[in-house]
Amino acid sequence: MTNLNDDSQELLTRPQHVRCPVCGHPLFKKKYSINHYTLVQCCACQVIFVREKLSQQDLDQYYFKEVDGAEGKKDCVYLDEENIENLSYYYRRLKALILKRIQTGKVLDIGCNAGYFLDVMDGFECYGVERSPDYSKVAKSKHGERIFEGTFEDYQVPDNFFDCISMQDVFDHMLDPMAVLEKCRRLLKPDGILVVKVHDLSCLYARMTGKNFYALIPPAHLFFYNRPSLKTALQKASFEIIFSKHIGHLMFLSTIVYRLSRKDPQSIFFHLHRWIEKTWFGRQKIHKNLHDIITIIAVKKSQG
Ligand SMILES: [Zn+2]
Repeated sequence: MTNLNDDSQELLTRPQHVRCPVCGHPLFKKKYSINHYTLVQCCACQVIFVREKLSQQDLDQYYFKEVDGAEGKKDCVYLDEENIENLSYYYRRLKALILKRIQTGKVLDIGCNAGYFLDVMDGFECYGVERSPDYSKVAKSKHGERIFEGTFEDYQVPDNFFDCISMQDVFDHMLDPMAVLEKCRRLLKPDGILVVKVHDLSCLYARMTGKNFYALIPPAHLFFYNRPSLKTALQKASFEIIFSKHIGHLMFLSTIVYRLSRKDPQSIFFHLHRWIEKTWFGRQKIHKNLHDIITIIAVKKSQG
């Protein structure tokens, strides 16, 4: 099997997208080469994406390696008990926004991780989809059989089932984002809401750092959105954006340093993270809002 980070020869022979997977436009320009992947930008909707076509099997190999603890790849923040309070800081703010639109009903969190967002959604019937066995086991211990271990593509529920579906830090990982949006639309009730949280390449920090922006990490992320491309994707899937906001996050200083390493063991930030990870200094809580992460709430339009 191919190592997606190391085998550049394999990537050269891989099939490539010939049309923008978001808007279908045939013209795009080369933007960056990162980890042997070619990132191109659509000339119409502006989305940046990995030109090489990957499969679910490719991604499974990458993620299972990550979960198995390959040095330098494992993102440690989600199974860190002491970090739950930091994560909840964002989730509580998101819940307050959701409550402005709906007060109860069924909520699905795609890529629910260990279920921390669902934990704050008391008053709702909570469902989750999680690919990682490690995380889904923790989520199931709290939310039971309403947690599905697998991909969203394989998730089976009746149409018009949910009042709210959320994708937080997962939409940029999807192989076929438009198919995912179409399925969300199908599973939502009329006037149901969709929450999408992704990195925002429109922000000044992303524009200043360019190729070195910390979220440009293929193959973990396959799509990179700015505000116009997000709007195009949601409109094409018959969603109407009712709200967008850059909500701040609370993070350990060591987590910020780790993100800056982009999981590269050669990076100075990677070594710095190891030095400060368990120290008082590394455990300082920082409120971060560089407008680098955008949260959008959209409503399912009745006519598609
Ligand atoms: Zn496009």
